[in-house]
Amino acid sequence: MECPVYKKCGGCQLLHMDYEKQLRWKKEQVLKLLKPYGKLEDMIGMENPEHYRHKVHAVFGRDRRGNTISGVYKEGTHQIVPVESCLLEHEKADAIIQTIKGLLKSFKIKTYDEDTGYGLLRHVLVRIGYCTGQIMVVLVLGSPIMPSKNNFVKALRREHPEITTVVVNVNDKKTSMVLGEREQVIYGPGYIEDELCGMTFKISPKSFYQVNPVQAQKLYQKAIEYADLTGRETVLDAYCGTGTIGMIAAEKAGKVIGVELNKDAVKDAIAGARKNQVSNIRFYQADAGDFMVSMAERGEKVDVVLMDPPRSGSSEKFLSSLIKLRPEKVVYVSCNPETLARDLKFLCERGYAMKRGAAVDMFPFTDDIETVCLLSNRKADSHIKLSLDMKR
Ligand code: SAH
Repeated sequence: MECPVYKKCGGCQLLHMDYEKQLRWKKEQVLKLLKPYGKLEDMIGMENPEHYRHKVHAVFGRDRRGNTISGVYKEGTHQIVPVESCLLEHEKADAIIQTIKGLLKSFKIKTYDEDTGYGLLRHVLVRIGYCTGQIMVVLVLGSPIMPSKNNFVKALRREHPEITTVVVNVNDKKTSMVLGEREQVIYGPGYIEDELCGMTFKISPKSFYQVNPVQAQKLYQKAIEYADLTGRETVLDAYCGTGTIGMIAAEKAGKVIGVELNKDAVKDAIAGARKNQVSNIRFYQADAGDFMVSMAERGEKVDVVLMDPPRSGSSEKFLSSLIKLRPEKVVYVSCNPETLARDLKFLCERGYAMKRGAAVDMFPFTDDIETVCLLSNRKADSHIKLSLDMKR
């Protein structure tokens, strides 16, 4: 596979391997880490592994000659590598970013300079709904005033009428975070909707939503298969984002509780539940660890915990309360096999056993690996183990 910026960008660590080899390599990496706990099913790959990213981020700046460039940061630096098209990114998103780059001059919009703080446009974020085709463009600016914004939107939509909403996000801090706090919707509703596994989800600029929707559906289906719900269970969807996994599980569960830290994602989740007419689900905005501690203190009953923490994995607070709640099943979705292995160790030393596991290729050509595992409460021997723990 050819890519002009392969070495400079650093985003595609596995570009030198053919796709089958990438899948084998990924499965081996997970196997190495999870061997002490259980076996893995076949790796779930993509039929067509290119241009899968439905969320594309471009950083804007200037090259040495003063020309406007857009692209990615060279790995580990703040140096911009110009990228016009990318094997991973949705082609429409790349085209929109190029159009924006072309419009800057006539609108006298300068790109932001990280060193001096001078200039306006810092980043562009494009999100494309997989089923709906709705498109959100987020312009991240260094200051809140954008000149002739209405005409800018008009010019942009003349080239790309598929764009359904444009949001200005203000980030005036010296930070490596892309998005700032403040937002102003300058066109459309300020969010897009998408459908996965038959449910509609609302996605705001700051909400987490899987970047690869084709594989996200397979991942969610696997998680639901592992949960094997009968319609009576109380299910906790922890680190729930816009409520995707919990909402898909709800029709097979008694009731679902979702917990998520990001306020906007929780609002999106609540709106999604209403839109899908799912009435047996409640969402809470909280740190998942704190939420688990108070659930354990109240002695609540949870049958199944679905959890999907960020790369850093779960917290000891969360896991030790999970042990107290003792759900019969835990379905752990992870985007980092190393923290997954660490957390599995904690749980498997405290009465849980890994029953099934599979890696899903959400990020072809990169070395990122997504895994889903089913753990169950070893009821029979858990009493013995618990009393041993108490003696220590
Ligand atoms: N299950 C969702 C989101 C998974 S991404 C989906 O598939 O779309 C992980 C989510 O965890 C993000 O939405 C992030 O905002 C949230 N998060 C990170 N730290 C958290 C914490 N301490 N407590 C609760 N949620 C947290």
